[in-house]
Amino acid sequence: MPVPDVAVVGSGPNGLAAAVTMARAGLAVHLYEAADSVGGGLRTAELIEPRHFHDVCSAVHPMALASPFFQGFELSRRVRLEVPELSHGAPLDGGRAALGYRSLERTVEALGRDGGAYRRLMAPLLDRLDGVAEVALDQLLRVPVQPLAAAIFGLRTLEQGTRAWGVRFREELAPALLSGVAAHAVAPLPTLPAAAAGLLLGALGHAGGWPIPIGGSAAIAAAMVADLEAHGGVVETGVRIGALAELPPARATLLDVAPPALLRIAGSRLPRRYRRALESFRFGNAACKVDFILSGPVPWAAPELADAGTVHVGGTRAETAEAEHLVAAGLHPERPYVLVSQPSRFDPDRAPAGRHILWTYCHVPAGSTVDMGGAVMDQLERFAPGFRDLVVGWRVTTAAQLADYNENYVGGDFSAGAMDLRGVLRRPVLSPVPWRTPVSGLYLCSSSTPPGPGVTGMPGFHAAKHALKDIFGLPVPALGL
Ligand SMILES: Cc1cc2nc3c(=O)[nH]c(=O)nc-3n(C[C@H](O)[C@H](O)[C@H](O)COP(=O)(O)OP(=O)(O)OC[C@H]3O[C@@H](n4cnc5c(N)ncnc54)[C@H](O)[C@@H]3O)c2cc1C
Repeated sequence: MPVPDVAVVGSGPNGLAAAVTMARAGLAVHLYEAADSVGGGLRTAELIEPRHFHDVCSAVHPMALASPFFQGFELSRRVRLEVPELSHGAPLDGGRAALGYRSLERTVEALGRDGGAYRRLMAPLLDRLDGVAEVALDQLLRVPVQPLAAAIFGLRTLEQGTRAWGVRFREELAPALLSGVAAHAVAPLPTLPAAAAGLLLGALGHAGGWPIPIGGSAAIAAAMVADLEAHGGVVETGVRIGALAELPPARATLLDVAPPALLRIAGSRLPRRYRRALESFRFGNAACKVDFILSGPVPWAAPELADAGTVHVGGTRAETAEAEHLVAAGLHPERPYVLVSQPSRFDPDRAPAGRHILWTYCHVPAGSTVDMGGAVMDQLERFAPGFRDLVVGWRVTTAAQLADYNENYVGGDFSAGAMDLRGVLRRPVLSPVPWRTPVSGLYLCSSSTPPGPGVTGMPGFHAAKHALKDIFGLPVPALGL
């Protein structure tokens, strides 16, 4: 086989984004994936019974919709994305729920006395969403193109990421809505990274929305592979790369791997100082995933939640914060914060007639082997009485099993690196070009580089952009259809 111009290791969204970008530039790309199927965090599978299609990792894609890479790739013209009108919701006891509609005004109305305060928090972000997304999804360590948007986002992050987070609210609904989104970050609340993630995701919920791909997340990976192959790329699965010597002598090598794997693969070729920086890279806490097959839709006590794509089941802001603090302290909460997606409500072919699938996970300490299935079911039963009676089958993936499933999720950390301030800035090193390693032609392109976790393709796109310029002297190609 001829030596390719570019070798890519790992076929998660970032490896695929890197491969697509390089192939679009006219280079010969060969991609190697350890697992038997492509996709990394973008796989959909019959996990419990035939004809019930569960997303193994990611399920909901506000970040993909907002990502400059996927916008250039014209994802929404390649994959059918169903965008629920109710982006997300958070149930409270007594049959109440905080509801985050795509329409800001409808959300404001549903939040009662705090509606106006919520509007004043969110509307300035929505007015400058491009600038906000640029800060959060492009690159933190550079002068923002839209400084006013950056300043407004920064001030709101300071408010929602510190003890000042309650100043503007008088009731429980708006804080529960915001914390439900911020807690995605797997970090104690309130903290700045969690607030930034929460404000970005919350604002996206009022803009493009929180889409669910028809056919599951695997449809996104399939569209990327199709484009790669259409531009001459070759994809090989079932090949785990343990050392650079196992790869052809390509002019550029892009690794969609976590820092420990970069250390193993590049080994002594990395200078000692850089190796030490990688050795001190810290991972965060983890997820325990619980997938369900149900004989009917979830019987939410707050009936509006039946129409939500995503539900954050943690109770009040104080309860969600308590659950996340316990995880940060190395404990397993009895009442965990549970992320829930209801894909078959929007994509009925994901389950046979009369059946539903439910995707859930909760946060647990790194490396946990604890089965959180019971605690997750208790939380669902609390806000959806009768839930247990609908459960036809379920499957638990502990954090330790998640780490076995995908070696980028060290200890079950699906963010591939702690999402605290240090982890956001040093990803994996403090540098204006953190994707570039000290070895000429070798790049890191996983979510252990900026802008971090989520299906954005941006770490892969950034790495590819730099490799194109550094090694081949080529501009960034067009990515659209
Ligand atoms: C339970 C769960 C729920 C999630 N939900 C969402 C969500 O709803 N929305 C969202 O945006 N994000 C979500 N995420 C996060 C998202 O999936 C990840 O941030 C994203 O997949 C990271 O992409 P990546 O390309 O960096 O790495 P990955 O997707 O992890 O892919 C890395 C790939 O590289 C391969 N690989 C690693 N080492 C080697 C090697 N040495 N040789 C060959 N191949 C190798 C792995 O097998 C894997 O296929 C979720 C993650 C999990 C686990």
